[in-house]
Amino acid sequence: MGSLLDQYREVAPPGTVEFLKRLGRLVEGKRMLHVNSTRYGGGVAEILHRLIPLLEEIGVHARWEVMTGSEPFYRTTKSFHNALQGMKQHLTADMYDAYLECNRENAKRINLEADVAMIHDPQPAALIDARPRGAKWIWRCHIDISTPQRTVWQFLRPYVVRYDAAVVSLPKFSQRLPIPQFLVYPSIDPLSDKNRELTREEIHQILDRLGVPRDKPILLQVSRFDRFKDPVGVVQAYRMVKKSHDCRLVLAGGTATDDPEGAQVLAEVQEAVGTDPDVHILLLPPTAHIEINALQRAATIVLQKSIREGFGLTVAEALWKGKPVIGGATGGIMIQIIPGQTGYTVYSPEGAAFYIRRLLNEPDRLAVMGRQAKEYARHRFLITRHVQDYLGLILHLARQAA
Ligand code: UDP
Repeated sequence: MGSLLDQYREVAPPGTVEFLKRLGRLVEGKRMLHVNSTRYGGGVAEILHRLIPLLEEIGVHARWEVMTGSEPFYRTTKSFHNALQGMKQHLTADMYDAYLECNRENAKRINLEADVAMIHDPQPAALIDARPRGAKWIWRCHIDISTPQRTVWQFLRPYVVRYDAAVVSLPKFSQRLPIPQFLVYPSIDPLSDKNRELTREEIHQILDRLGVPRDKPILLQVSRFDRFKDPVGVVQAYRMVKKSHDCRLVLAGGTATDDPEGAQVLAEVQEAVGTDPDVHILLLPPTAHIEINALQRAATIVLQKSIREGFGLTVAEALWKGKPVIGGATGGIMIQIIPGQTGYTVYSPEGAAFYIRRLLNEPDRLAVMGRQAKEYARHRFLITRHVQDYLGLILHLARQAA
C-alpha cells in the first residue's frame, strides 16, 4: 500500500493526486493551524480528521486545536448559531461576556503560532484578538449567515472583518464584508470508515446489530436532532408514504457535544413516532462511522429534509454510496441534488412523500439516478478537491505575506 495520498488514485478523478503533489511542492513547510469547537460530531470535525494528515503528507505542517468551553459558552454559541441562521434568539449581556471570556481563555491556552490559521465558525472567531504578528488568518464559515439576526451579526462582524479572508461554503452564504471572500465546498473522505466500500456481509451484520431488518425498503435520514434538520417532517413524509408502500424509516442521529438542544428535539421526534415498530430511532455515538456507512448503503432512498442547512455533508455521503437523495430545497442541498438526476429537492413533507413514492414505484429510475449520484459526488465533493482548494488558499495568502 502506498502513501495515504496514493490511495486516492483509486477513487478520485484521474490526475487529481499528481496535481496535489505538484501543488504541495509550492507550499512545503508552511504551518497551518485549524481551530474549531468540537473534536467529534458534526461535519467540520469529520473533515478535519482527514484533512490534517493529508495536508501533512503533502508537506504542510498542519495542526488542529479544539476550543474548550463551559456550559454557558456552548449555550451562547448555540444561540449564535441559530440567530446567524435567521432564528429569533434572545441574547443577554452575560451571554456575550461568556463568549468573549471563553475566547480569551482559549487564546491563552492554545498555541496560535502558524503561517496561516483557519478559524472555523463563530465559536472561536474572537480569537482574532490574539493573532500573532505576521500570521494570515482565515475565518472559515460553514453555516448560512445570509439572513442573520442583526444584533448577533453586529456583535460578530467587527471580529470577522479583522481576518485576512473569509471562506464560505456556498455563494449565497457570503456577506457584505471588506475582506476577500472565497468559496470552498466542503467534502467527504471516500476512504474513511464513514464512506469506504463495505461488503454485503458487513452491511448485514451491522444492520442486524442495530436491530434494523432488511425486509422492506429503508428510508433513512442521518442527522443531529436539530430543528433545522426537520426530523418531524421526515416522520410526516414517511406516514404519507406508508399508506401505499410498506417501508421502514430509520432516523439515525446523536448529539454533538456543542448542541444542548438535541434532547428536546429528540423528545418531539419520539412523540411524533409513537409506537410504530417500522420506525427506528438510532442514537449513535459520535464514533459510529461504519454504522452510518452501512445504513446509507442499506437504504433505498436517503432523505435530508432540512429547512436550513449549511452544506449538508450527509447528502454527499449518500450520493457517493449511489443513493438518490430527497432533500429540503435549502443551502448546500441545492447544489448537491440536481433534481431528476441525483435526487429531488422538496419544500414540504408532502413533496418528500411524492418523490419517495415515485422512486419506490420506479426501480429503474432509482438505479440510474444512484449511478449519476455517485459520479457527481466523485467529481465535486471528495476530500481531494477540498485539499486542492486549501492549498490554493495557503499559496495565495503566504505569497501575500511574503
Ligand atoms: N453524523 C454522525 N452521527 C450522527 C449524525 C451525523 O456521525 O448521529 C455525521 C454525518 O454522517 C455527517 C456529519 O455528521 O458526516 C453531519 O454533517 P452535516 O453537514 O450533514 O450536518 P451538521 O451536523 O454539520 O449540521
